Amino acid sequence: MSNKYDVVVIGAGPAGYVAAIRCAQLGFKTACVEKWRDDKGNAVYGGTCLNVGCIPSKALLDSSHKYVEARKDFATHGISTGDVTIDVPAMIARKAKIVGQLTQGVKSLFSANKVEGIAGFGKLLPGKRVQVTKQDGSTEEISADNIILAAGSVPINIPPTPIDNETIVDSTGALEFSSVPKRLGVIGAGVIGLELGSVWSRLGAEVTVLEAMEAFLPAVDTQIAKEAQKILTKQGLNIKLGAKVTGSKINKGKTKSVTVSYTDANGPQEATFDKLIVAVGRRPLTENLLDPAAGVELDKRGFVIVNDSCATAVPGVYAAGDIVRGPMLAHKGMEEGVMVAERIAGKKTQVNYSLVPFVIYTHPEIAWVGKTEQQLQQEGREYNVGTFPFSINGRAMAANDTEGMVKILADAKTDRVLGCHIIGPSAADLVQQMVIAMEFSASAEDVGLTMFSHPALSEAIHEAALAANGHAVHMVNKRKR
Ligand code: FAD
Ligand code: AMP
Repeated sequence: MSNKYDVVVIGAGPAGYVAAIRCAQLGFKTACVEKWRDDKGNAVYGGTCLNVGCIPSKALLDSSHKYVEARKDFATHGISTGDVTIDVPAMIARKAKIVGQLTQGVKSLFSANKVEGIAGFGKLLPGKRVQVTKQDGSTEEISADNIILAAGSVPINIPPTPIDNETIVDSTGALEFSSVPKRLGVIGAGVIGLELGSVWSRLGAEVTVLEAMEAFLPAVDTQIAKEAQKILTKQGLNIKLGAKVTGSKINKGKTKSVTVSYTDANGPQEATFDKLIVAVGRRPLTENLLDPAAGVELDKRGFVIVNDSCATAVPGVYAAGDIVRGPMLAHKGMEEGVMVAERIAGKKTQVNYSLVPFVIYTHPEIAWVGKTEQQLQQEGREYNVGTFPFSINGRAMAANDTEGMVKILADAKTDRVLGCHIIGPSAADLVQQMVIAMEFSASAEDVGLTMFSHPALSEAIHEAALAANGHAVHMVNKRKR
């Protein structure tokens, strides 16, 4: 059987489902092939993000944060509670419900927009044909004028710590613990390791994070990274830097545990944990995705090679999301999905890769956009810095959530904002204000001249922008003007 479409998308994660919906909105006959199934064999849309990534991790981060607030913060507000306990299965069930609502939501959007969802494994064949392998092993062939590859990514496994999904888990397994482990090891102090480590630490686990690199969060502005390390350590995360994991041994007693070998500055070390999360990064998923004769090339790290507008070297074949270069972030993939759809429609849409916002959903959150101070120094650029701490922001004080700061970097000559770095309450939402400002090439003065509601956390942005030019009002300026 041969079915012909205008566009076929392989993968229904944020890059693929957004591309498919936008293609359909633009009037293309669109199909989206997805291999993810539920227990009943029905296709599940939403990819890593909705099923085992952004959403479930944030659901557990929010639940565990509320637990900490109830135990440690309510009394400050004069609220007394009895014994605060945690029902882990109930917390996991709440997470599953949210995931179900959102994945179902994508299904509804597909039908409302007339995207044809096809359950099966897609493989790109030459001539813009796609072979779909069904659950029962049968195959079907479809073809399209345009193909969008959006197969996403999977966790990286490392030989010293093979995943057994019982004692040693990856990020997916770490979203499903049925009880709080007493001793939890996390390999990797990246975004996922810190978020998942925080969840279980808040619920009472003794968490040790083993990180091979000497620097903590090297991609983050150093001032913010130092503040983050201080705060997370105070919260109970035992972060060991320069600790490279080299092996592991499962101990089979009444309850299983794992002894991890690692080397640090003092030589070989060992540590024993009840559970171990391996969070050492993700890799693009391209196994069996491409018939070599289809002509789509991969780079040395396995990413599909594309240009700035996500086109491969094969005319009419595009790739978007985690499967291509750039940060592995849902919103980056979604914007690429829109760009590809609109380019197929002949528009000149272009993703602005210099303004991708980054967020680490610890508490306080860490969020940034644009250049760090270290990058500007390396580039030899002259810049002004304005910072403002949440400890003197009225709204943060009212909420008893005063850790962290906003930092704004502006060009010394033109005053154009070059970067914004935040550690603090709601940093993910706050940084977005500066993403918009920077998209419109705002200067620090422009932000300073903008009226901000009072009292609001955003006022810290306002004051940091004013401080970049030496005239913050609600603190003593370091820089005089
Ligand atoms: P994916 O979401 O991986 O989707 C790809 C889809 O393609 C999958 O559904 C897969 O089943 C399907 N597929 C693959 N191969 C085939 C094939 N051959 N045929 C048919 N279907 C196929 N990002 C953020 O921006 N914010 C966050 O807070 C955040 N938190 C995260 C937390 C965790 C624990 C993890 C693991 C990730 C997190 N991410 C976060 C990253 C985010 O999930 C990814 O960047 C995003 O999902 C990538 O989208 P994608 O569409 O490229 O790929
Ligand atoms: P990210 O890529 O941001 O998810 O972070 C993954 C982290 O895991 C990186 O900071 C790596 O340095 C770290 N990492 C990778 N392999 C090991 C290892 N064998 N031992 C300890 N840390 C590791």
